[in-house]
Amino acid sequence: MVPISYSPRNGQHHHHLRAYKSVPASAQARWNLLALLLLFLREHLDCMAGGLGGAPTHVVAVPSTRGKAGPHPLQDMVRDRLRLPWLTAVPNPRYGPDVRQFKRDWFTLRLPNSTGAVRPLVLDDTWTTGSRAQSLAHALKTAGATSVGVLVLGRHVNPDHAASKPLLKRIEEPMFDLTACAVER
Ligand SMILES: [Zn+2]
Repeated sequence: MVPISYSPRNGQHHHHLRAYKSVPASAQARWNLLALLLLFLREHLDCMAGGLGGAPTHVVAVPSTRGKAGPHPLQDMVRDRLRLPWLTAVPNPRYGPDVRQFKRDWFTLRLPNSTGAVRPLVLDDTWTTGSRAQSLAHALKTAGATSVGVLVLGRHVNPDHAASKPLLKRIEEPMFDLTACAVER
């Protein structure tokens, strides 16, 4: 699991992560996040591949619980720029947006018939508890994936949470640096 950046709730990144999927969506937020994602992968795809045991073979977005029709906003933003086929996960309607725990039966999906290794890259905009991405990773493993990587645009940080304060202090300086990733650290 690789977060590209922390995302404090009062910060610009957090604002983009909401605005890119609002209705209407902010084009500026979409271009900002797309540029960040593509630049990050250009620098660190090899780091992800190292953890996966090989290059990713598929990409899949964590479905939103709000149940909007059409492709996920992340999929709509990235499209075929990763040159990887998209997988589609179907959420279990039993679990609403308030669920904050790992669920084995939250998502179902089918992997394409393949004789080779299947190493999906799960994309998510925000990691809060991680319950959704972890539940999707479980579903992918159950469906037969060889390994699963999770790439998250923003690791949510609540600045009002007492435990967040030392972290926020620590990430004030140096500024965000795209040349280093969580795998290398
Ligand atoms: Zn890296």
